[in-house]
Amino acid sequence: MIHQYDLVIVGAGLAGLRAAVETSNHAKVAVISKVFPTRSHSGAAQGGIAAALGNEEPDCIEWHIFDTVKGSDYLGDQDAIEMMIKEAPEVIYELEHMGVPFSRTKEGKIAQRQFGGHTKEVVDEKGNKKRVPVLRACYSADRTGHVILHTLYEQCVKNNVKFFSEFFITSLILENNICRGVIAINLKDTSIHIFHAKAVLFATGGYGRAYRVTSNAYANSGDGVAIAFRAGIPLEDMEFVQFHPTGLYPLGILVTEGARGEGGYLLNNNRERFMKNYAPTVMELAPRDMVTRSIQTEINEGRGINGKDYVHLDLTHLGREKLKERLPEITGFAKTYAGIDPAVEPIPILPTAHYSMGGIPTDLYGNVLANEKGKIIQGFFAAGECACISVHGANRLGTNSLLDAVVHGRRAGKTILKFLAEADFSPLPTDSGESDKEYINHLFSGTGTENADVIRKILKSEMTNKCGVFRNETDLKAALETVRTLKERFKNVNLSFKGKVFNTELMEIIETGNLLEFSEVIILGALERKECRGAHWRTDYEKRDDVNWLKHTFAFKTDKGIKLKYKPVTILNYQPQERKY
Ligand SMILES: Cc1cc2nc3c(=O)[nH]c(=O)nc-3n(C[C@H](O)[C@H](O)[C@H](O)COP(=O)(O)OP(=O)(O)OC[C@H]3O[C@@H](n4cnc5c(N)ncnc54)[C@H](O)[C@@H]3O)c2cc1C
Repeated sequence: MIHQYDLVIVGAGLAGLRAAVETSNHAKVAVISKVFPTRSHSGAAQGGIAAALGNEEPDCIEWHIFDTVKGSDYLGDQDAIEMMIKEAPEVIYELEHMGVPFSRTKEGKIAQRQFGGHTKEVVDEKGNKKRVPVLRACYSADRTGHVILHTLYEQCVKNNVKFFSEFFITSLILENNICRGVIAINLKDTSIHIFHAKAVLFATGGYGRAYRVTSNAYANSGDGVAIAFRAGIPLEDMEFVQFHPTGLYPLGILVTEGARGEGGYLLNNNRERFMKNYAPTVMELAPRDMVTRSIQTEINEGRGINGKDYVHLDLTHLGREKLKERLPEITGFAKTYAGIDPAVEPIPILPTAHYSMGGIPTDLYGNVLANEKGKIIQGFFAAGECACISVHGANRLGTNSLLDAVVHGRRAGKTILKFLAEADFSPLPTDSGESDKEYINHLFSGTGTENADVIRKILKSEMTNKCGVFRNETDLKAALETVRTLKERFKNVNLSFKGKVFNTELMEIIETGNLLEFSEVIILGALERKECRGAHWRTDYEKRDDVNWLKHTFAFKTDKGIKLKYKPVTILNYQPQERKY
């Protein structure tokens, strides 16, 4: 079946829906999502969305820009960061006017809380300038993503956006550098649908599901990233995967950084607030990469609780009332998944794969790049976690990614409207969808012997153990070898359930193929990057190396395997300095 739309948006998280709101009054827009829109991972975001509103104490755009640049370990492009941070207050007020129920101050303004790496400048008693945590994250209790996602969904329904829910896209139609649409499977009956479009926006979210311990939803299998890569589009900075310090032990379900923003402590087996040894000024509110490494070091050196692989997040001193008002969701999670009441007991936590800094490269306006020199693909756009602009560089600050998704969803929407004013439908290639059909028929009729579930489990363990918080050459080489072997085994994968209605095994097989596709890129990027920067920490190098590595990785899929090239970082006002907190 062929559908025709001016714009096809793949992904119904904050980035996709914000773009849909921007465009749907002016163009025929479809949104495709493999899960029901309000089940997109954006809805799980807890802690907040950053903007220097200064509602609770003085704050300014400049400080937010500097914090983001420093947080990125100087790998973020400063032109992109500046644009995003300057737009932040405007997009927050827009969300408020659309109906987002933000938590409030006593005066009725949007309330703000502290988050790691977000600081203000103060002068201490000796007259020295220093930076201390600032109230910058706008929030709605610990359900911030949920309320924004639902509000944007309501706006889309109001604007008559056409939703294709539980449609799973498998490939991009791209010919002669012009994007012409996407191919999708309708999960209800496994039929193949061709979406012919003047413009396609990928807002397919992150790739945290490549890891065994992760805070990410099942849907975050990086499909968009893998599909773009297979279509010949490079991937940028894939080696930068953020590990959140506080995943609930043992699964890694997220306990928001807002818990530390509200005053939570991290304690080791000696009941010591060990962050004083790693980041004495900001303690638990250091950026994520640092807190994660500190926790992992405590665990590795035997100071985990009772020698196990976790430490404690202690919220007991906050009191039951504050937990109920500010952190109701995570209080519930701790009870449901760990049988713990955070008002009386500390929560067992460990680092968990959380956010994908890398992804599909775009320019500042959402156009997807065909190479490291800035050539763009006609009619193809990306925004949100699947895109790399790069505003987060080597390490994202908490609450900057909901901001990224909303700002860049909106901006891509504006770019697309300009593009549509001039664009027409480019003809579909005659064989559109044929290879997708063939592959599915092959799976249904085939007699493969490999089990995708087994392959996926090996991959996830390998990524967590050998390409995780701490990395080294020996481990990375071994992981690369494993992934390459798994890719070979995957060619012989077996579909055991042959039903056509909601065949989730089929979907999981395709997702596994996607995980394998980009995991190789993550490992290769990590192996080649011989330095420590942000979330990429090599125990065999131990230092950032600006002379050789102040550059973005671009990975290309070629007939001879993956080729890496590099692109300079855009530096404006802030020259790289040593990163201390
Ligand atoms: C537990 C958790 C808490 C977080 N808390 C915060 C926070 O407090 N503050 C903050 O700033 N950030 C937070 N983040 C990060 C932030 O939520 C995400 O980066 C952001 O929401 C991503 O939005 P997105 O629109 O790019 O993608 P998502 O919301 O992940 O949406 C992806 C969409 O793509 C669709 N899709 C994917 N593949 C396919 C396919 N093959 N076919 C069809 N559709 C497809 C999915 O169905 C989904 O609709 C958190 C993340 C997690 C995991």
